Amino acid sequence: MTPSPVGAPARDLDDDLDDDLADDLLLAPDRVPASGDRRRHPAPAHLVFFHGPMDCGKSTLALQVDHNQSRQGRHGLLLTQGDRSGDPQISSRVGLRRAAVELDAGTDVRLLVRDRWAAGHRVDYLIVDEAQFLTDGQVEQLAELVDESHVDVYAFGLTTDFRARMFPGTRRLFELADDVQRIQVEVLCWCGLPGLLNARVVGGAMVREGETVVVADTGPAPVAGTPEAAAVRYQVLCRRHHARGQLGPTPAGPGQLALR
Ligand SMILES: [Zn+2]
Repeated sequence: MTPSPVGAPARDLDDDLDDDLADDLLLAPDRVPASGDRRRHPAPAHLVFFHGPMDCGKSTLALQVDHNQSRQGRHGLLLTQGDRSGDPQISSRVGLRRAAVELDAGTDVRLLVRDRWAAGHRVDYLIVDEAQFLTDGQVEQLAELVDESHVDVYAFGLTTDFRARMFPGTRRLFELADDVQRIQVEVLCWCGLPGLLNARVVGGAMVREGETVVVADTGPAPVAGTPEAAAVRYQVLCRRHHARGQLGPTPAGPGQLALR
């Protein structure tokens, strides 16, 4: 063996690498790796992104995926942001709900998962609702968890904001996800065509400028002239009626036509 130019015996490093290789090759089947050490035992993991307009049922799908995964004996961690219920949980309009961890822009998702592992919990997959609000960095952290720690990630989010522009988190997920799927549940515009885009409605009129994120309900339109009518709400429209700013012939609300 030759000493390295900096004086340290070069062979030590090689020995370490060889030992790692030997560990991988000779690993006894009953030796279960520590949770954080899964990178040495590659298993396919995926970053999957489901997206659609408001009211497309994405939170319901998120809870369904969680249910399917947990039935296979896998352990998940549910994450959300700015959930409409105000509590850290994933809730759907059909009444399903599950406790979730609330993220903010400063959360390092990798540390969140490692903390769970350190506390002795398994995390085999993540369910990330409201994924449109993720920062670029957080989407990259999710990708790292998939590639380096073999955690499956299922992210669910809105495609576009009220200006019909992709949300930042959605854009980064389009760029990095292994699989991107438009949620197939049909939301109809008031005209009957598939609803693709979210309109922000203030005081009964569609607006195209303002903050990207204003949390509001997507319920039926309030009666004109009431205080509720001046509040912000959202309505799903087809591309043509989004472009025209047409909210429908009546104040009956999204998806409803007047019967008189
Ligand atoms: Zn329409």
